[in-house]
Amino acid sequence: MKKFKKINSILYVEDEKNIREELAEFLENFCETLYLAENGLEGLSLFKEYSPDIIISDIKMPKMNGLEMANAIFELDKDSHIIFTTAFNDQSFLHEAIEIHADGYIIKPIDLDKLESMLIKTIKIQNMRKELDLKTKYEMKKKAELETILATTIDGIAVLDLSLNFLYANSAYERMIGYSLTELKSKNVFDITILEQKSAIQEVIKEVLEKGYIDHFQKKCITKNGKKIIVDMSLAIMPENHRILIATKDITKEVNSQKKIQEYLEIIDENIITSSTDLEGRITYASKAFCNISGYSKEELIGQKHNIIKNMDTPVELYEELWDAIIKNQIWTGELKNKNKKGQSYWVYMKIYPVFNEDGMKTGYTSIRHDITNLKKIEKMAIKDALTNVYNRHFFNQTIGKYIQNAKRNEELVCFAIFDIDYFKQYNDTYGHQEGDNALIKVANEIENNLHRADDYIFRLGGEEFGILFKSNSKEYVIEYCNQFIEIIQNLKIEHSKSSISKHLSISAGLVCEEASLIENETLLYKKVDELLYKAKEQGRNQLVHNKKEV
Ligand code: GH3
Ligand code: MG
Ligand code: MG
Repeated sequence: MKKFKKINSILYVEDEKNIREELAEFLENFCETLYLAENGLEGLSLFKEYSPDIIISDIKMPKMNGLEMANAIFELDKDSHIIFTTAFNDQSFLHEAIEIHADGYIIKPIDLDKLESMLIKTIKIQNMRKELDLKTKYEMKKKAELETILATTIDGIAVLDLSLNFLYANSAYERMIGYSLTELKSKNVFDITILEQKSAIQEVIKEVLEKGYIDHFQKKCITKNGKKIIVDMSLAIMPENHRILIATKDITKEVNSQKKIQEYLEIIDENIITSSTDLEGRITYASKAFCNISGYSKEELIGQKHNIIKNMDTPVELYEELWDAIIKNQIWTGELKNKNKKGQSYWVYMKIYPVFNEDGMKTGYTSIRHDITNLKKIEKMAIKDALTNVYNRHFFNQTIGKYIQNAKRNEELVCFAIFDIDYFKQYNDTYGHQEGDNALIKVANEIENNLHRADDYIFRLGGEEFGILFKSNSKEYVIEYCNQFIEIIQNLKIEHSKSSISKHLSISAGLVCEEASLIENETLLYKKVDELLYKAKEQGRNQLVHNKKEV
């Protein structure tokens, strides 16, 4: 017996007991399970129950003959395999049997070799059919999967022949380009390409044919309604057949918003004084506006610390406060005096923000600045006297009250003196108003230069009147200190020929030096000093008068 793989089951239907039993033994060689039936009716019910792989059946049988049974079986499964065994005298049935498309016919007495080769042939056919079924099912499944992928993917997928005619497009592609698949099938890629890019497409196709693929190539397409869209596409030669697969995505929105962002960035770069640093404060980005105000180029700034523009006048505490805030991830806001490449100062109002990456880790700082140099100049002008550049009367009025309060809290002595130039009207009359101005400047400068401490103030209180406001520990020293001013103005030796008390310009002064706690208010203090000055004038000018009782 030939070697082959057994099939699962055979149903053998035969009414003659002897033949049935004899053949049963033989058939068991071909299958794992053998079902036996005595007539068609029994055979049919066994078929219904077990779906055997092959049915071997006699034709002429009681109750239901083999042909009737076969018809019923084919009704249930048209792919069933049936071999008929029939006696030579049953030939009348043979015609019918042939019409049934059975797998074979054997005339009794059964030639076992013939039956064996017929069985093997049937088994082979059956196996082939099973394989084919599986393959078809697999291919159908794959096809269905592919169709689902193509229908649901957000990328537009199209297939072209080598002349770039459309063969296929998925619905995303149809939606993107506006044409239906049917319309696309009569189109070529060049029909939807803008004129300027036709040669670029040719280049790309050449490269695809050489390399097999191209990734992320951007091109402009024209949709059915004439709209120009920007697409990102990848192309590849499909395996084994000369077709080109293209995967595309409409990136018009992304490209346009990218462009907008770029435009905004350029506007910011041009107009906003901004810079970024790493955690150590080294500059990683500087805007054009930053370069303009600082006088440095981007190349000169990148990698540097902000020390490069630091103004040495700025108190160390301010930088400490700034770093203290930003290290704690706070936003620091304040005014800073900077220095440009030429060494000139400029003022900025500045905000420094900590910068974090996607993981929430701090990566550096970004600062935005406004140029407030002009504002600072105006501010300064508002508190300084334009002619002499010492503090003006307005600033005196603003300061004096606070100064007294502060001295009261610290239990200090407040010293306030008013200096008035003697016979200044005559000086103007003699030397002219311009010379008068020059003399005022000299006197103001001289007094300012001889002040001792940073918080000693000089004000121009009126035309040729200056005030000084300062603190001291010793009343005796204050008198000596103020007397010096009478002297130093004399020593300027500004000629004043019409003065009846000196050949040179002189001043008279009134002084009050008093514990802050005893000063009722600034108006009374001013009045008192003014009265003492009046006394100095009365007593002959070029002298200091102070309240002896109090000082
Ligand atoms: P006395 O010794 O009593 O102080 O006499 P005086 O002439 O200095 O006093 P008076 O108050 O009569 O005159 C002050 C003069 O100061 C009058 C004015 O011409 C002059 N003066 C005030 N402001 C200015 C100024 O800005 N420039 C110039 N050149 N002169 C000024
Ligand atoms: Mg005066
Ligand atoms: Mg005067």
